[in-house]
Amino acid sequence: MNYYYQKMTLALRVMALLACTQVNAGTNASCGVSLPKQAPAGSLIIGRANAGSVLTLAGRKLQLAPDLRFVFGAGPDVRQMTLAVRANSCKANVTVMITPRTWKTEIVNGVPQNTVTPDPATQKRIQAEGALISKARALESAGLGWQQPLIWPAIGRISGIYGSRRIINGQPSSPHLGLDIAAPTGTIVKAALSGKVSLRHDDMVMTGKTLILDHGFGINTVYIHLSQINVIEGQEVSAGDKIGAIGTSGRSTGPHLHFQVQWFQEKLDPALVLPGLFK
Ligand SMILES: [Zn+2]
Repeated sequence: MNYYYQKMTLALRVMALLACTQVNAGTNASCGVSLPKQAPAGSLIIGRANAGSVLTLAGRKLQLAPDLRFVFGAGPDVRQMTLAVRANSCKANVTVMITPRTWKTEIVNGVPQNTVTPDPATQKRIQAEGALISKARALESAGLGWQQPLIWPAIGRISGIYGSRRIINGQPSSPHLGLDIAAPTGTIVKAALSGKVSLRHDDMVMTGKTLILDHGFGINTVYIHLSQINVIEGQEVSAGDKIGAIGTSGRSTGPHLHFQVQWFQEKLDPALVLPGLFK
């Protein structure tokens, strides 16, 4: 072994050691994983890791894309997310602190009363339909649509925002975890990302005509209260394809698109990923 070779191996060893301990300002970097140190509640978070890394978050093994990126998301009430990383002999926990936000209160009246205080038969339907939605959200495919920048699924007035605490027909309701875009019935609704239709339902009590698209790695988008649906389950769509039209089906007081972005069951804030909003 010559002198230069020895020096090079030593440098590589030092670099490998640093990779396990180095922390950059504003970014976590451990065992070759790069992640933001903090992110606001509702964020979709994209990280990077070395090839062959094993990444586990809340008991779930994360997929690593061919470009070595991975994705997860923090719902509205999450305070921190810790990723366990194993890469060769390097082992580390990388934590992203989730910054709390304050939420608005919105008063909504005129909602069909059977969706606010449903009778037992309707309640049963709501539960069964909720299970179908949960199943679609649980899907984990190898699709890479999540790597694209999102496009607006419809053009209109923002009539409801993520996180608001809603008083519906005088009753406190669960938080609103999507973005409402109000526009006339029939306004085109587009796929926000490329993906595959994982759920199509023409008549759900709460959400009316309902679509869920799977974009891979647990990222999915939801389009509800539609007046028409132009795609079928299993169909591949490209970002920007027409998938339906705005309506007011389900628990709704006027024509609008309720749009959600999710990582599995974690509901994320579309305003943080759509271009040009609150940036
Ligand atoms: Zn909504």
